[in-house]
Amino acid sequence: MLYVANWKMEMSFKEGLGFCRDNYCGFIALSEIEDKRVVLCPSFTEISEVCGIFKNSAIKVGAQDCSDNKVGSYTGQVMAESLREIGCAYCIVGHSERRIHCFESNYLVGQKVLQLLQSGVIPIVCVGETMAEYNAGFVKDVVKEQLIDVFKVIEGFSAYSLCIAYEPVWSVGTGIVPESGYIEQIFDFILELSKKYDKKGQIELLYGGSVDESNAGSIKSISNIRGFLIGGASLDFKKFEKIVQL
Ligand code: PEP
Repeated sequence: MLYVANWKMEMSFKEGLGFCRDNYCGFIALSEIEDKRVVLCPSFTEISEVCGIFKNSAIKVGAQDCSDNKVGSYTGQVMAESLREIGCAYCIVGHSERRIHCFESNYLVGQKVLQLLQSGVIPIVCVGETMAEYNAGFVKDVVKEQLIDVFKVIEGFSAYSLCIAYEPVWSVGTGIVPESGYIEQIFDFILELSKKYDKKGQIELLYGGSVDESNAGSIKSISNIRGFLIGGASLDFKKFEKIVQL
């Protein structure tokens, strides 16, 4: 199982590094548990240092976003290749907060996936419907639309690794978690969609949305789940530790 900690912009540079140092032994212990893989996704500014702190360990580091461009006049953007050079193994793209606040389109997310795969960084593509889309019964249409451009991109690669994190927008940061049966249904749908492109089982499905130590155990039993994308609960080491240990 993969446990991805999305620290968003919840900690400053000093706080993020302090969190890593204060919980260093705990993180290392978690990463040494059989079949558990831990990925920490701090802000861009901390990535290099966090890679340094956890070098020679099984802890992996990820970014929370990257540019959809390879190189050029894109003020403020960060290229996928630089992320690889400083030690990122993973990168979250298409998070609902970026889709909402930065108006990211499905096409743009697909282009970010392209840059990451070309640089050898594993994309964690977030998909999921809003409450309005859920109420209107559009969940599968929305998820399919969000993934089409990603699938077009992976068609061009014979070897790649990709994570798809199903995160209903109405569950992110709200404390509301869908029924396991519902998540399983959406996972089945994503797997069916990806079958044509994922001949070697290179896609891992994650669930994200208000995961904590009280619900992770039951979500973990959902068939085909390969891990979690964890926001709020990853900022409290004790909670994160409990989730990984379950
Ligand atoms: C997230 O940020 O991707 C997330 C799932 O947040 P939370 O766990 O706080 O809902």
